[in-house]
Amino acid sequence: MTKSSLTTITAKPAPEETQSCWSCGTMRAVHFCEACGKVQPPAPVDYFTFFGLPRKLNLDTAALDKDFYDLSRKLHPDINARAGGQEQEWSLQQSSLLNDAHRTLKDPIKRTQYLLKLEGVELEEQSKSATEQARSTGQLKKQIVPPDLLEEVFELNMQLEELRMHKKMGEDDPALIEEIGRQKLELEEKHEALLHELKAHWKTWDALIEREQPGQPVSEDECKQACDKMVDVLNRRNYIRNLVRDVGEALEGSS
Ligand SMILES: [Zn+2]
Repeated sequence: MTKSSLTTITAKPAPEETQSCWSCGTMRAVHFCEACGKVQPPAPVDYFTFFGLPRKLNLDTAALDKDFYDLSRKLHPDINARAGGQEQEWSLQQSSLLNDAHRTLKDPIKRTQYLLKLEGVELEEQSKSATEQARSTGQLKKQIVPPDLLEEVFELNMQLEELRMHKKMGEDDPALIEEIGRQKLELEEKHEALLHELKAHWKTWDALIEREQPGQPVSEDECKQACDKMVDVLNRRNYIRNLVRDVGEALEGSS
């Protein structure tokens, strides 16, 4: 038995190779038919695959924008409004997928977060309830403070406490406000610098993807290490962003 039937099964082409246009039967493009222009049913793919991109983090955003605008025109529901109900529906679904994919991949932080999610990494949750609680109590949010910020955050908390005391007494302390403002600026600079640090880790990740060959996956350890470094940067960045926002709120109405 049937070597031949076995061959038939294994020789079955991958789905993307067999996909032909539901309308004219000729096509191979993923989202619309290159022959007749009809919108195709959306395939359940990740955002990188949607744009035909490898899972690399250094990304040509100008090329991404161009692909986005080209696809927008072809998939736009208004353009396909004359089409039948089913194609119109696909058009809506494809357009919405296109918009989500573009928005996510265009932004360096969202792109990194999305990739990490695809790789099964959970990011530290900066929960909404914690933020609300911090607002109502006037305390800086209780979070795990990144070790390199411990001293700074401690100092800052003392100063904010002092500021609140002054406010309560109806006193003015321009020097303190200026000092807190200066620290806020420093934190904003750190926040910015972390983007560069993140981009350095992109290189490591992209090199792994480039090295990957069919049948020769890169080691899980290496992937995990690269992911962990990015997670660390994102968590620190998140922490600083929240801190800056909290300090900004504390300063509001004080200047
Ligand atoms: Zn077609």
